[in-house]
Amino acid sequence: MVIYYGCRHCGKELGVLQHTEMDITLRFLELLEEKDLAEMIVSEKDGYFRLEVICEYCQQALDMHPDYHELDHFLQ
Ligand SMILES: [Zn+2]
Repeated sequence: MVIYYGCRHCGKELGVLQHTEMDITLRFLELLEEKDLAEMIVSEKDGYFRLEVICEYCQQALDMHPDYHELDHFLQ
């Protein structure tokens, strides 16, 4: 099982998780995100998965401009 993870806002690729790293990483993400992880993981073709998170840059932008977050939801 391989999971690519990237920013859901700007689409920036942040890395790739191998199965062996999953336990540690998911535990780490649980501390950051209270959202259901199932909502964050998108299944892609060929058995790959994509984990959608927020990158450092977008997090900073959201912190400075909370309105962007509402706009993003509106566009979805
Ligand atoms: Zn981003």
